[in-house]
Amino acid sequence: MTSHATLYGDLPLYINGGPHASTTEQWIEVTNPADQSLLARAPRATAEEVELAVRSAQQAYLLWRDVPAPERARVMFNYQHLLKVHHDELATLLAQETGKNFADAKGDVWRGIEVVEQACGIASQTMGETMGNVARRVDGHSWVQPLGVCVGITPFNFPAMIPLWMFPLAIACGNGFVLKPSEQDPLTPMRLAELFTEAGAPAGILSVVHGGAEQVDALLTHPDVKAVSFVGSARVGAHVYRTATEQLKRAQCFVGAKNHMVIMPDANKGLVLSNLVGAGVGAAGQRCMAISVAVFVGSARDWIPELAEAFAAVRPGVWDDPQAAYGPLISPEARVRVENLIEAGKQEGAECLLDGTLCEVAGYPVGNWVGPTLFRGVTAQMGLYREEIFGPVLCCMEVDSLAEALALINRNPYGNGTSIFTGCGAAARTFRHEVAVGQVGINVPIPVPLPFFSFTGWRGSFYGDLHAYGKQAVRFYTETKTVTERWFDEDIPTGPNMTISLR
Ligand code: NAD
Repeated sequence: MTSHATLYGDLPLYINGGPHASTTEQWIEVTNPADQSLLARAPRATAEEVELAVRSAQQAYLLWRDVPAPERARVMFNYQHLLKVHHDELATLLAQETGKNFADAKGDVWRGIEVVEQACGIASQTMGETMGNVARRVDGHSWVQPLGVCVGITPFNFPAMIPLWMFPLAIACGNGFVLKPSEQDPLTPMRLAELFTEAGAPAGILSVVHGGAEQVDALLTHPDVKAVSFVGSARVGAHVYRTATEQLKRAQCFVGAKNHMVIMPDANKGLVLSNLVGAGVGAAGQRCMAISVAVFVGSARDWIPELAEAFAAVRPGVWDDPQAAYGPLISPEARVRVENLIEAGKQEGAECLLDGTLCEVAGYPVGNWVGPTLFRGVTAQMGLYREEIFGPVLCCMEVDSLAEALALINRNPYGNGTSIFTGCGAAARTFRHEVAVGQVGINVPIPVPLPFFSFTGWRGSFYGDLHAYGKQAVRFYTETKTVTERWFDEDIPTGPNMTISLR
């Protein structure tokens, strides 16, 4: 049932190495957030289709787990090459469905490519350990083995990077994978899957199913699913974590954030202002590592009027406008939610220095636009501070000391990212040491680690134990088997309690 009004038609699912037309009667509209035009429709996969996706990943896994790691790595080498060849094409698709400007869209794809590069080294990352003679004439060694079928559930805000955090590493480790991308921008993940097959990935090893809560729940409760990676909001992440672990599955859930940047009076003012603009409103604030709270220490507060001027110079626009600093929010509902939070902030007594509601972009009257918005006088009790806004809104707070700033940050329920701008090594060292947040920037506003580290949100920003996406992700997607081995060349009696002889 093809809808001819859409640019990309009705999306299939991706099962067994190719497109699989859904028989569902429920379709989700995928729209261009700058003008609401219909780009495609995504099917809500039926229960049978989710079952088929898992089954095909399970069957593919049973063969793939025996493929030598260097051969699996070769698929990843091909894949990173193909992603680079198709970088602009992927970024264009991504920009159309998310509204991100082209540079940002390219960055989204690029950060994913970096993870695939990491997966190219899978052989050395999945080596076990050995020790000869753990007891006399007994050797010990450990083997790293895949789990089976792993599942990824991803949010709208990085439709290339976040799926690529998950399936390349999981599959390089020898697993099968089922991806349930955000229903708001599923076009890019589908193209990622096609290119993966083109790179030589075996049919079925990666399936993509579309939908929402119902499809996610079907995956979380499927007996063949062994591990679940989730990235998204705190509310849904809590549900996913509870459901998956209740089913005794391995789960890691990367969720919401409220990231503070501390500005010391000895910081470089120019650097602070330009970085606050980029980190506060870049990607329309729809980044889990966006800075949403600027904490001015002491006389640094004098810079707030200049910050307001810098904010006022920024304007949003459509993805292919090279002058546009950022794009629209993902949906009309997201825009209304952000506007309501801005209004509530004004009612609660915060001083709105720049109000982005009623923002207009010429030629695009129905886009989900919110202009750069700046508040000062925000307190920890206000909704503006307590809620993750996920829009181009920066809240300024003022404190008298670094200790006060640290106490504020460490009381916040989230712990995804934070940064300090200072010229003082001692202040930077104290901050790095004392702050209870997992990703810390020193004169770097958005400290996203590269994939040879791991993405290490803390506290309310992460549920689970092993963090994605680099080294620890490889541990998440594998089991270690410890083998203790003895070969008899003479009759050696074991002790009465059957332990290995330690004579
Ligand atoms: P979301 O939680 O609405 O959706 C995420 C995924 O969950 C989607 O695939 C969606 O279909 C599915 N889902 C939605 N409702 C569900 C339900 N009731 N049951 C089961 N599954 C459901 O998140 P979003 O709005 O797409 O993304 C924005 C959020 O993601 C923000 O909170 C942001 O901070 C967070 N995020 C976190 C990180 C991180 O690394 N910590 C990175 C990116 C985004």
